[in-house]
Amino acid sequence: MIHYDLHLHSRASDGALAPAELVSLCAANGVQVMALTDHDTLAGINEARLAAEQIGLNLIVGTELTCLWNRRSIHILGLGLDDAFEGVNDYQAELFCLRQERAERISERLIKKGVDASIFDLAMRYSEGGQIGRPHFAKALVKLRNVKTLQEAFDHYLGQNKVGDVKALWPDLRRSVEFIRQAGGIAVIAHPTKYKMTFTKLRELVADFKKVGGEGIEVGYPGLNPDQGRELIKLATQQDLLMSAGSDFHNSFNAWTLPGRFPALEVNEQHVLNRLLL
Ligand code: AMP
Ligand code: MN
Ligand code: MN
Ligand code: MN
Repeated sequence: MIHYDLHLHSRASDGALAPAELVSLCAANGVQVMALTDHDTLAGINEARLAAEQIGLNLIVGTELTCLWNRRSIHILGLGLDDAFEGVNDYQAELFCLRQERAERISERLIKKGVDASIFDLAMRYSEGGQIGRPHFAKALVKLRNVKTLQEAFDHYLGQNKVGDVKALWPDLRRSVEFIRQAGGIAVIAHPTKYKMTFTKLRELVADFKKVGGEGIEVGYPGLNPDQGRELIKLATQQDLLMSAGSDFHNSFNAWTLPGRFPALEVNEQHVLNRLLL
């Protein structure tokens, strides 16, 4: 059996570890094939690739794109990309600007709610030049003692429909999937049960996703209960979608999220690994 993890974050976006540290942690946890999937960037790939070569681990070039579908924010994984594709720099630079502007708006709204004015600088510092996101604001809110834990920061300030949940003009679903395909990758719907959608809505998303060239869906990730897992495998089978799985690892603060740790998924003929390891 092959040990793999096709959804992982580093400091190039909102993960806690440097890409090379993440590769080491994957290896220490028995992962043989890993995809680095930072939000809206491939900036960690070079460092990860070097580390993976040294340690003898198979690195899949990936990303997790934020996009809009019917006014909802959806995450689409791109797996098996060619990071030398010429459109990469423009895409990630555009998303960098979007995220910077959004960070300013998040700060303004938090400050209006009484958060200290240093929040922007603090969050920026935590993002260390990578793609800034709400988790960096969560860290800043803990530091400023507005909340005690990162989870509390999401519960009170940053989670869905809270004051810091600022929407941005993310690329639409079509554009994200097209980017992934142009870069030679496979587009996969990330954590489909985390959008608070009904399965009927999810089937609509799948239909639109397939129309624009999407090929896969995650059916194994932490937080998925066995019933949902079975539903997703059924959906993938019916819709002829490739199946993917991964830990969505960001940091080690929660002992239950570790590289390589997610509900087991049988590697069958519809598994995306078959395409990635060709
Ligand atoms: P952003 O890319 O700025 O929209 O931030 C989204 C990221 O925040 C996700 O990738 C997760 O890492 C994290 N996140 C989103 N919602 C929650 C939540 N309710 N609890 C903890 N982390 C969350
Ligand atoms: Mn994240
Ligand atoms: Mn995600
Ligand atoms: Mn993720």
